[in-house]
Amino acid sequence: MNIAFIAHDRKKDEMVNFVIAYETAFEHHQLYSTGTTGTRIMEQTGLQIHRFMSGPLGGDQQIGALVAQNEMDLIIFLRDPLMAQPHEPDIIALLRLCDVQGIPVATNIATAELLVRALQRGDFAWRELVHKYKPGESQ
Ligand code: PGA
Repeated sequence: MNIAFIAHDRKKDEMVNFVIAYETAFEHHQLYSTGTTGTRIMEQTGLQIHRFMSGPLGGDQQIGALVAQNEMDLIIFLRDPLMAQPHEPDIIALLRLCDVQGIPVATNIATAELLVRALQRGDFAWRELVHKYKPGESQ
């Protein structure tokens, strides 16, 4: 599975603790992140993560490009609901694309827990079928 992590600044500690707790669930997947989030996770786990640009500099859009191609399988996006973000349009665009493609996306830790447990159970197997039978880009 292709899994992406994004955490706003005041949510980064929560993200790191979450990924530490579920490191074994994530270790056999292809992991992606925005820049700083990925750096923080890699500093404190043994996971290898492909880091895109920092969110405010376009990282959300880079992850969104994979979502648009239906290549991202799960997104853990710990948003800060109490702080305005300079790249709010990018955030909305990313979430919109997740809805377009029907990509599971957690925007808070409670949903993240549910989705990672689903991942552990094998509930994401349907995404392998999506990859196998993905329609052409024009559809
Ligand atoms: P960052 O980006 O991981 O580079 O901090 C996250 C964001 O603010 O969207």
